[in-house]
Amino acid sequence: MIKASAYTFKILRYDAMKPESSPCFSTYKIRVIPGLTVLSVLIRIRDEIDGTLSFRSSCRSAVCGSCAMVINGKLDLACRTQVAAFDTDTIILEPLPNFEVIRDLVVDMTPFWTMYEKVQPYLIRHSPVPEKELPQSEAERLRIDQYVNCILCACCYGACPVLARGPDSDYMGPAAAVKLERFVLDSRDERPAGALDVVNDEKGVWACDTMFHCIDACPKDVRPTDAIVGLRKAMVKNRFQKMLGKAKNEA
Ligand code: SF4
Repeated sequence: MIKASAYTFKILRYDAMKPESSPCFSTYKIRVIPGLTVLSVLIRIRDEIDGTLSFRSSCRSAVCGSCAMVINGKLDLACRTQVAAFDTDTIILEPLPNFEVIRDLVVDMTPFWTMYEKVQPYLIRHSPVPEKELPQSEAERLRIDQYVNCILCACCYGACPVLARGPDSDYMGPAAAVKLERFVLDSRDERPAGALDVVNDEKGVWACDTMFHCIDACPKDVRPTDAIVGLRKAMVKNRFQKMLGKAKNEA
């Protein structure tokens, strides 16, 4: 018989519709069998104990990125975090940092999606549409491999020390850089060099402090700092090419 163990879940609660209230922890005592995830427990609390508890979830398979939160101090997906994996019987759940909280574990992702949209995260082509698919070699696919794995969970955004300086930092965040680099490196993409201008300033890739917290936080082993450095290199290269072209024209 599978033995259940007692756990205490402390969940940070807040309702932005009631700004007069202060954030505070609600405590739930739950018996958990091995194999249960933090998300399973959250669903149980909401369905059986406290219907007012708010959180996001969808796929339950670490694919949709909806259930990112802080779990015992670490940013991760609730659906892939096993309760029994902790060497403590107290699990503390908090919303993603660097976002405004809407309610409990639900944050306002608007700034995240605004930056995502700004980098045009899709293939841009000017050549005629091919009759069949656009093939890629194995090497070409490998170039974008880690970036394709990004599920837009925003753990990197929550871990970013530049964004932690507050809304005035106005920084694009690591995930937008990942998406832009994913398409810049894609052999099928034909966006012009000038498409990088959208993140070529002090609010864009140059704002990154290269502290690598985003890499530590990513549950899909994506390395956002690699994307940021890659974009910086491409921008410097574009600038040199422009200067060289100008010098040649003047000669
Ligand atoms: Fe999430 Fe990683 Fe993508 Fe950032 S890079 S949004 S942490 S999957």
